[in-house]
Amino acid sequence: MPQRRIFVTSALPYANGAIHLGHLVEYIQTDIWVRFQRLQGHEVHYIGADDTHGTPVMLRAKDEGISPEALIDRVWREHKHDFDQFGVGFDHYYSTHSPENRTLCEEIYQQLQAQGLISQRAVEQYYDPVEGMFLPDRFIKGECPKCGAQDQYGDSCESCGATYSPTDLVNPRSTVSGATPVRKASEHHFFKLSDPRCEMFLRQFTQDPERLQIEAANKMQEWLGEVGAGKLSDWDISRDAPYFGFSIPGTQDQKFFYVWLDAPVGYFASFTHYVHTHKLPESLLKDFLRPGGNTEMIHFIGKDILYFHALFWPAMLEHAGFRTPSHIFAHGFLTVNGEKMSKSRGTFITARSYIEQGLNPEWLRYYYAAKLGPTMEDLDLNLEDFVARVNSDLVGKFINIASRCAGFIHKRFEGRLSATASSPILTQLQHAAIDIGKHYDAREYGKAIREIMSLADRANAHIDQIKPWALAKIAGQEALLHHSCSEAINIFRILTLYLKPVLPELAKAVENLLNIPALKWRDAAQTLPEGHQIKQYQHLMTRIEEQQIAALIQANQSNLQPSTAKVSKMTNPDIPVTNVPITDTATPTINIDDFNKIDLRVARIINAQHVTGADKLLQLTLDVGALGERQVFAGIKSAYDPAPLIGRLTVMVANLAPRKMKFGVSEGMVLAASGEEPGLYILTPDSGATPGMRIK
Ligand SMILES: [Zn+2]
Repeated sequence: MPQRRIFVTSALPYANGAIHLGHLVEYIQTDIWVRFQRLQGHEVHYIGADDTHGTPVMLRAKDEGISPEALIDRVWREHKHDFDQFGVGFDHYYSTHSPENRTLCEEIYQQLQAQGLISQRAVEQYYDPVEGMFLPDRFIKGECPKCGAQDQYGDSCESCGATYSPTDLVNPRSTVSGATPVRKASEHHFFKLSDPRCEMFLRQFTQDPERLQIEAANKMQEWLGEVGAGKLSDWDISRDAPYFGFSIPGTQDQKFFYVWLDAPVGYFASFTHYVHTHKLPESLLKDFLRPGGNTEMIHFIGKDILYFHALFWPAMLEHAGFRTPSHIFAHGFLTVNGEKMSKSRGTFITARSYIEQGLNPEWLRYYYAAKLGPTMEDLDLNLEDFVARVNSDLVGKFINIASRCAGFIHKRFEGRLSATASSPILTQLQHAAIDIGKHYDAREYGKAIREIMSLADRANAHIDQIKPWALAKIAGQEALLHHSCSEAINIFRILTLYLKPVLPELAKAVENLLNIPALKWRDAAQTLPEGHQIKQYQHLMTRIEEQQIAALIQANQSNLQPSTAKVSKMTNPDIPVTNVPITDTATPTINIDDFNKIDLRVARIINAQHVTGADKLLQLTLDVGALGERQVFAGIKSAYDPAPLIGRLTVMVANLAPRKMKFGVSEGMVLAASGEEPGLYILTPDSGATPGMRIK
């Protein structure tokens, strides 16, 4: 088999949030593929980086009162730590905010310019007059022009699904300052994707049946349309200052490259930094980044960013003198228990919390592998199935082989193996290397795992028939015992090799136990020689306990607030400062958008009672009009008897995530005021207010 030379990437995570289990689908999928190719003896360079530029990072840093550089530096370390924990073995992990990336972006831009593929024209956009900045669509909110729903983003309505442009919004406002945005024109730079050269190239690029999955190729066909249809429009690649990114040459720091231009270039920048810092031959840069190098470049991505990777990116590379992707492998999204990941259900699980709860990262790698295929279909993490599958497959079937047989080798035969004659079961296992290898290469991990586990089933049935534990008690059966346990060890070794791309840490532990060098794919053809000495068996993997999953969900539930909150004052940017009483307890300013996230409602207390065993709480039943009835546990027992409360109107937070308490579920929060002196005062609206009214 000729050696492949492959440059592999996973999409770059954005530098303003934590890695979660949804992200990990992609990194684990890529890592398994990379590890498999290495076991085959191919040359693989697995490269990643943080995607650091753009408005969200700039504003987040401002919110935190730190520089964007400090923010992306911190997030980089968090991301790197999470990847290391989950065994995602990047050869190099870098940042798009790097000198290499700036140089490459400038080169690409200048090449495209020389080719006549950059144009400029004025674009009218929303501008925040208070912040002095143009607003990306996601930073503008208002009423949907179609259905009138409030609080919708500038590009689409979550209520009716309509898509529109931000200038269509009714009563738009900037989510950055709360100000009403104004329309303002500015000169933008475009990559001329509509140029016939780009269209011609993209048609030919997508024709290669190996390059894209069939669903992706169909999507491309849809985007391209009929020949001459002119469906591709030019791509706006510039943003106005202030912007965290690279300034466009010749614009005096007034125009910056849009983050989506420099993000994929970050693959090349990271590769360049890798070659230099690892002192690899300079020729790699030519072989992997320029055309004609007889190497492959493979991008693993989520299906949501296909547009960027299959259209803009290759067209840009082709016309700037760089190589284009050999394959683009897109995957689907993660659901948990059949639903979108949700913070209130506790299924928006971060990589860090998974580790902090003491769960083994290889359990997740195994489960994802068992469910991953080569398509863009979504993958479901069913937590019950996760526990069952890991316990039954990994512990019950795979580890079981070694735990039943390795001990006898040590106790009875000084750790030495007998000669292993070829047997039907061993031969079958060895021959499976070809099929399992094909499955891994084709990203049919689910099929590979099914085949491996069916081999493990056969091995266990074989051992059950021989019963080494029974042989051990019969005098004169030493030779048979020795032979059967040695055979089992050889079976275990081959199964370990087949699982090694998925379970690298476990494989390392087994290699140590068996006292052998790191396994390669070709080792499936051999068995361990007579007299080979193994080490004493030690526990290789524990079972998942149900409580660990419950604790994980709890750790990720974001509703950890107490059931009453202190109300003193609010700082509303719409009210002139002089009208706001200045008090001692200054809290950070929030904008109107933050405030609008809280759904405050008038509620009638229709029942109030003591809670057995709770010395601070009253249980309230609230009528919230159209929102129905809510049960709330409020910490107001020190100030109120239940009876007089019944019938009163008060104010509640209606959209607080339900919180499970010792005494039941609390479905909201009642507001009460308190000060320095003892005393607690629940709020009452003026007369005329009715249950369910919104407080704004
Ligand atoms: Zn709508």
